[in-house]
Order: sequence, then C-alpha cells, then structure tokens
Amino acid sequence: MRVSLAAAGQSDSCLFTVVASGPQAGSRPSVFQTHTVAMNQFSALFKQLGASGAKIVSVTPVSEQIPAATNGNESHPVPDVAKVAPTKKKVTSTAPKAKPHGDVPVNTYKPKNPYLGKVKDNYSLVKDGAIGRVQHITFDLSEADPKLQYVEGQSIGIIPEGTDAKGKPHKMRLYSIASTRHGDNYEDDTVSLCVRQLEYKNDEGEQIFGVCSTYLCDIEPGSSVKITGPVGKEMLLPDDEEANIIMLATGTGIAPMRTYIRRMFESRERKANGWNFKGKAWLFMGAPKTANLLYDEDFLHYEKEFPDNFRYTKAISREQQNSKGGRMYIQDRVLEHADEIFTMIEDPKTHIYLCGLRGMEPGIDEAMTAAAAAKGIDWSELRPKLKKAHRWNVETY
Ligand SMILES: Cc1cc2nc3c(=O)[nH]c(=O)nc-3n(C[C@H](O)[C@H](O)[C@H](O)COP(=O)(O)OP(=O)(O)OC[C@H]3O[C@@H](n4cnc5c(N)ncnc54)[C@H](O)[C@@H]3O)c2cc1C
Repeated sequence: MRVSLAAAGQSDSCLFTVVASGPQAGSRPSVFQTHTVAMNQFSALFKQLGASGAKIVSVTPVSEQIPAATNGNESHPVPDVAKVAPTKKKVTSTAPKAKPHGDVPVNTYKPKNPYLGKVKDNYSLVKDGAIGRVQHITFDLSEADPKLQYVEGQSIGIIPEGTDAKGKPHKMRLYSIASTRHGDNYEDDTVSLCVRQLEYKNDEGEQIFGVCSTYLCDIEPGSSVKITGPVGKEMLLPDDEEANIIMLATGTGIAPMRTYIRRMFESRERKANGWNFKGKAWLFMGAPKTANLLYDEDFLHYEKEFPDNFRYTKAISREQQNSKGGRMYIQDRVLEHADEIFTMIEDPKTHIYLCGLRGMEPGIDEAMTAAAAAKGIDWSELRPKLKKAHRWNVETY
C-alpha cells in the first residue's frame, strides 16, 4: 500500500483519497474502488474494506493532489484541463482548437470503386510458441490513379474475395494502417497492415476462422486485393514536435503506434518527413506471451537509440505477475505508473492514444479512474475534457 508521508500531521478535517483493489469479480483481472474520506473515518472504512476482502493500494491527502484541481466538489475535485497547465507554459495550447485536418485524405477509394493493390509481402510477426497468427502485409499502391495517400493513424478497407452465406459479395473490413505515409520502403507507394487471424469456437464447439482476416493472413505475394479508403481522423498525431505521446496498445492495436513511433524515431523516416520529434513518447504494450509481442525488436532499438524520448513498457499477461500475484495486464502497468502518467497529463502537450480489442477499454478505464483518484481527480469528468481537446484518442474494435 502507498500511504503518502504527507498524511502525518493532517487534521481530522482533511480529506484523503483511498484507492483499494477489490476481490476479483468474474473473470476481470482487477477491480479498483476509490473513497474520499476524512481521517477520522479511516478506521470504519478500513474495517469495511477488510471485511469485503479488498486490499488498500494507496492513501493520499487531497491537499497533496493536483493544484487548482477543484470544481467545487470537495470529495472529487476535478482539474480544469486549462488550469492544470504549469503556469510557466502558455495556457493557449491546453485546449487546442479543433484540428481542422482538412488536408487529411479520406475515401479516395470507395467500396463501389476499390483500388486493386498487389500484395508485395506477407510475413509472420509472431514467434514460435505464440498464440494465434498475426501477419504484416504490404500492398503496392504505385499504380493507383488517383494516388492512394494516407497519414499515420488512418485505416484502409479490404474487401475479401468470395460471397457470404446469402451469396452476396463480402463486405469491406477496416484495418489500421501500420506503415507511415512514406511506406516501409520510404518510397510513398506502399501501405502495410498488421492483421490477426480471427479464430474462435462457436456454440457447437466448431473452430471458426474470420473471413477477411484469414483471407489476408493466407494471401500470396502478387495477388490483387480490393482496397478502399483511407478513412479515420480519430487517431491522427498532433503536428507539435514537442508533444508527448502516451500509447496504450494490445495486440494489433500496435499498428497505429508503429506508424507514430517510426515517424518519430526511424532514421530514414525522420529524413523523409522532416518532423523533428522532440517530445516524450511512452508505449505501453499488452500481449499474452513474449512470442506475441509485435515489432518488439524495433521498439527496443528505438529505446536504446532515444533513451530520453522513448520509453517502452510491456505487460505480458501469461508470463508476468501484477502486484497482487495475478496476470499482468496493461491496466496494471498503467496503475503502477499512475503518478508519472498523470504528471504527464497535467502537461497540455500530452496526448494519449488507445488501440486494440474493445475488451481492453473497461480495464484501462478502471485503472485511469483509480490512478486519477489517487491524485484527487475524477477521471469520468477529466476524460471528456481531454477528448474535446483531442488529447484522448481511442480506436477499439
Ligand atoms: C477501425 C478499425 C481498425 C481495425 N484494425 C485492425 C487491425 O489493425 N488488425 C486486425 O487484425 N483487425 C483490425 N480490425 C478488425 C477487422 O476489421 C475485422 O473485424 C477482423 O479482421 C475480423 O474480420 P473477419 O472478416 O476475419 O471476421 P468475420 O468473418 O467478419 O467474423 C467476425 C464476426 O465473428 C463473430 N465473432 C468474433 N469473435 C467471436 C467469438 N469469440 N465468439 C463468437 N463469435 C465471434 C462476430 O459476430 C463478429 O462480427 C479493425 C477494425 C476497425 C473497426
């Protein structure tokens, strides 16, 4: 349990935020609860938590929490995003005006008129012993007229061959682009994806493989594929070279993060884009096993080359344990680094990106709630403000 030393010498009227991790509910890895109480209520609260099987994670005096973090609600003070800005910094960038993104290409190719791109490359991204299949697939766009241009953070659509159960052509599926706008070859004429083969058992116990993901994972170089798009403006990077970027990814959610990180740190890419990133980038990556980590060597290389600008934190659920002895999920890492994350969020230049399976959202939300509460912040009120300021960006599927 983390108990702030500042708790000593506080009067009974001071308020404290108590964060506790509850007993496991269903299959969820952890449940966090927060309570704001006065010191003379500690003993009753601790008794109640103990009886329910909850463990206390931290006790922090509200007075020690973010300055100006009040909206008049004493028990859950909420920082005004603008007010949290360190006074030295210009406050104007705390709530950046809606980015126009007018110049970002969208829907150059629509499902009725897709571009036929040839597969250049298709290789496995996972190692022996991994769970499932994930492929890196590159398409040639050099024949596209009009040009199929895209930027980091966008997606493209793929229309698989064949027909569905009703005999109708298959519908388009979206995939996050995994290459920068210059492509993996820096020649501005390719696009790459990171595709996981969907695999599950139906109610009858039959093994089912997803239509489009299987089509892509099995596709041979030289084959032509119907491509649409690009689409999406939710996951675009800010233009500011001094922005800080926190990335939370699980599985193929790494695709947009790979584009950001290459844009920031890959030497040929930096030359091609002229964008001299000077901020701090922090990637939290969740995977079930080490063999399932995607692009791991690249990220380790950037971490070594840019130790002041890039940090890489992994949560490998089946191999690492969280502080409670359970599986280590990305939300456990978020909670471990709560102080640093929220100190970064106080800086209006910090933007957070979350991408992966939809199931990751509740866990991250719980961790952010608990982490925020330890700083006296109500995450449910802060999150929409960050979103409005284009600083909280989520793409889950
Ligand atoms: C914006 C966006 C970005 C995306 N980016 C990526 C990416 O980068 N990489 C990637 O691999 N995917 C990505 N996806 C997911 C992708 O679009 C497809 O949904 C995925 O590949 C599955 O398509 P499929 O044709 O293989 O599956 P389908 O044959 O269409 O099967 C999917 C259907 O199977 C059923 N199903 C799925 N799981 C189960 C289960 N466990 N139990 C029972 N039924 C189930 C559901 O009905 C589901 O609709 C993204 C999606 C979006 C919206």
